[in-house]
Amino acid sequence: MALTTIDNFINNEFVKPTEGAYFDTFNPAHGVPHGQIPDSTKPDVDLAYKAASTAFTTWSKTTKAERSRILYKIADLIDARQDEFVRAESKDQGKPISLAKSVDIPRAAYNFRFFAGKILHSVEEAAELEGVGFNYSQRMPIGVAGLISPWNLPLYLLTWKIAPCIACGNTAICKPSEFTSLTAYMLCSVLKDAGLPAGVVNMVFGTGMKAGQALVEHPRIPLISFTGGTVTGAKIIANSAPYFKKLSLELGGKNANIVFADCDFEKALTTSLRSSFANQGEICLCGSRIFVERPIYEKFLNGLVEGAKKLKVGDPSAPDTNLGALVSKEHWEKVMSYIDLGVKEGGKIECGGQKPVSLQGEFQNGYFLEPTIISGLTPSCRVMREEIFGPVVTIYAFDTEEEVIQITNDSEYGLSCSIWTENGRRARRVAGEIQAGTVWVNTWMARDLRMPFGGMKKSGLGREGGEHSLDFYTELKTICLAD
Ligand code: NAD
Repeated sequence: MALTTIDNFINNEFVKPTEGAYFDTFNPAHGVPHGQIPDSTKPDVDLAYKAASTAFTTWSKTTKAERSRILYKIADLIDARQDEFVRAESKDQGKPISLAKSVDIPRAAYNFRFFAGKILHSVEEAAELEGVGFNYSQRMPIGVAGLISPWNLPLYLLTWKIAPCIACGNTAICKPSEFTSLTAYMLCSVLKDAGLPAGVVNMVFGTGMKAGQALVEHPRIPLISFTGGTVTGAKIIANSAPYFKKLSLELGGKNANIVFADCDFEKALTTSLRSSFANQGEICLCGSRIFVERPIYEKFLNGLVEGAKKLKVGDPSAPDTNLGALVSKEHWEKVMSYIDLGVKEGGKIECGGQKPVSLQGEFQNGYFLEPTIISGLTPSCRVMREEIFGPVVTIYAFDTEEEVIQITNDSEYGLSCSIWTENGRRARRVAGEIQAGTVWVNTWMARDLRMPFGGMKKSGLGREGGEHSLDFYTELKTICLAD
């Protein structure tokens, strides 16, 4: 099969990497290469910077109405090419086509629509200073932004950065994940067709160590928005520190899913199956630590195991597939090593733990894994503390509200949490105590783009969403006018 060759996108042109080197990108469901990615280096970032900084001088002065018009057009073009994007995202990432169709691609279009509207409707502050005059605040675009995204929700998370960045009048150099660059590459044509001026969005494909680090260490790039692992986040903080860059870091999580005995049992169970295994557990918001109040523990565990065994693992392009393939061989091996560790730490594999034996033909070499539930571990075990980022959850019985708050918060992470209870007072009390950027009560992954999103502790720095995105992508200043 012919491999798709991806090229960098600089100044609205597809260009080869300066050093001419490419590496393979794999179809995770087949375990074979399906494309070639530029192995970009610092000179490519320098070229992109030249294009983006030239474009900034005019784009930053373009009216909000004009920027909004182009963003709406980009959204419309993503919708018009939805099927193409859906198939590509599923093939490149391994996710079920149903998920790409219902979540990833519609949300990518909505990211542009949301910020197209947002910039038109935001109002700044003004206040009279008695005896002096009055003050007003004004937002300025900052310059060329570095946007670095991960492989789990490739287009969804990249566009969550591009849309507010350019809506605010900045220009961008994007570095999508080296594992999933295909839909970012396809987006380049959409941007051009929508009439986005040359140089406003540039894509430099390649690895984090070369292309990503060159962006972070570029002395003239004043802001970096990064979504990815916590260890990488720490490197980005260190490498960007000499330049005092503005950073937004959306990092890893080890989210708790707390099920009280007074919950709506069926709703909690059905949603917990989703929050455990959606996208093969490769969503930073997945609830991988399930805490169940003891009176319903056995019943909930049995229901969860029964539900997990019914989930269909296999061909991501089949409409009824629930779990596709993990993104890469390396990641599959990492997730498997945590299952082995769980057993060594005294856990019991209630279901899953293996590659499904039923896979035939081309799928035999894919990176598939059965949904896995591990019981019998204590909250101090590594498997209950470290992010696995695969279809693996632990389940644990708790006795009191105080205990479950304590074990939930006894974590390096603080990204999200779900609480299941029909007692409204308890819901507010527990939600108020949980150290996480987002707490859902009786639901999971319900996102309102107007609301702040981000992590506490090692799950991140800063908030994005609504006004918070405008805060990140602009410099806010106060102007004082004397009478
Ligand atoms: P990763 O940190 O390995 O890579 C993310 C991106 O950073 C990639 O584009 C990579 O090439 C780049 N990168 C790697 N090293 C770099 C460096 N030294 N300098 C600059 N860039 C570098 O993460 P991943 O494995 O792609 O994604 C999985 C992680 O992302 C998980 O930990 C998950 O929880 C997290 N995540 C968090 C959120 C959130 O909103 N908090 C959302 C999705 C994923």
